[in-house]
This record gives sequence, structure tokens and C-alpha cells, in this order.
Amino acid sequence: MRDFTSIDDIFSRPRDENIELLKMWAGTTLAFAIVQTGASNLLSSTFFVNLVVAAVVAGVAFVLHELAHRVVARSYGAEAHFIANDRWLLLSIAISFFGLFIAAPGAVWHRGLLTMRQSGIIALAGPVTNLVLSVLFLLLLFPVVILQPPFVDLLVTICYVGFRFNAWIGLFNMIPAGPFDGAKVLAWDWRVFAVTTAVGVGLSFLLSDDLLFTLIQTFVRLL
Ligand SMILES: [Zn+2]
Repeated sequence: MRDFTSIDDIFSRPRDENIELLKMWAGTTLAFAIVQTGASNLLSSTFFVNLVVAAVVAGVAFVLHELAHRVVARSYGAEAHFIANDRWLLLSIAISFFGLFIAAPGAVWHRGLLTMRQSGIIALAGPVTNLVLSVLFLLLLFPVVILQPPFVDLLVTICYVGFRFNAWIGLFNMIPAGPFDGAKVLAWDWRVFAVTTAVGVGLSFLLSDDLLFTLIQTFVRLL
């Protein structure tokens, strides 16, 4: 679904992209925090904590995903703009009250003479950013648990949710069909598609909570 009558509108009437990114950040933060808390619990302090977690996790995941597309597209000389999808953002907030999270906050639109390889790499940049973020959040979990800094519970939650959420968003975007990044990556090179998807599956499904807990315990004991 598009919010435009034609793709030319995006390039002929440029919008303030910081505002567009901010709308995406706010909308996804609110929707994710509502899903995490549950609609019947929104007056509790848990909602406030979940808003902070969502602002870091959803903000970093979506904003850096889209900025990665834009940076790579522009590095190839293409014109590229991020536009928030207002209708889907509002819909995702409405649906979050029913416990479902929809991730369709907007997209980077680009135009210019690009090869299949270049558009494949532009598409790949988004999911790869999320998979790298997932690993970074996972790695951060260890020093946080060991060093026990102030607000340790909040920081552990941010690292854990950041790890899971980014793995899922990275994998979700590798769906090889329709408007998803995976379709363009697969059209360029099936091997890159296979490796990236395998990493996404590994991060999303191989490391169960039990296994993660055992890993951290072993690590703490070794110190
Ligand atoms: Zn993307």
C-alpha cells in the first residue's frame, strides 16, 4: 500500500526526512510498547519501562535499517528518500491493542541508473544492519550481566529484546517476494540471499532462551 498517487511525487515534492524518520520512530515505539505490555495493562509502570525499551530497540532497528538503504543508494549516485507510511503506522498502533505487531513503517524510495548488483546491495544493507545489531545486542548482554551497572534490569531487557527483535526484523525482511528486501537480494545473487537468510534463521531460532541462559551462566562461572 502506498500513500502516494505516483512515485514521482516523492522526488518532486521532497519532505523533511528527519520528520519522516521521527514519525516512524514514534509510531513503531508506541505500537511495540503496547504489544509488549498488553492493552489492559497500559496504566501500569510496566508500560513506561516498555516504552523506553521500545524507543531504543525499535528506534535503532528501524531507523538504522532505513538509513542503511539510503546511505548505500546514495553512494551509488541514486536519489534516495525515506518516506514514513502514515497509514500503516496508524494501523499498526490500532492493531497493537489486539497484541499484534506489524512492521511496515515506511521505506526508502530511490531512483537512478542502477545495476542488478547495486540494487541487490542496497536491499541487502537493511537486513544486514539488523542482523549486525542483533549480534551487538547479544554481545552487550554479557558485560551487562557481569558488571551489574545501575539500571541493570532495564539494560538486560534492552539487550535481550534488541537481540531478538533485530534478528526477527532482519529475517522478516529477507522474505523473497513482493516489496521485501529479500526479493531484490535473491534476484541479484541466490548465494548472498541463502547466507543472509541462514544467519537470520540461526539468530532467530537456534539460540533458545535456555541455551542463552546456560551460556551466560557458564561465562560468569569462568570469570
Ligand atoms: Zn528494507
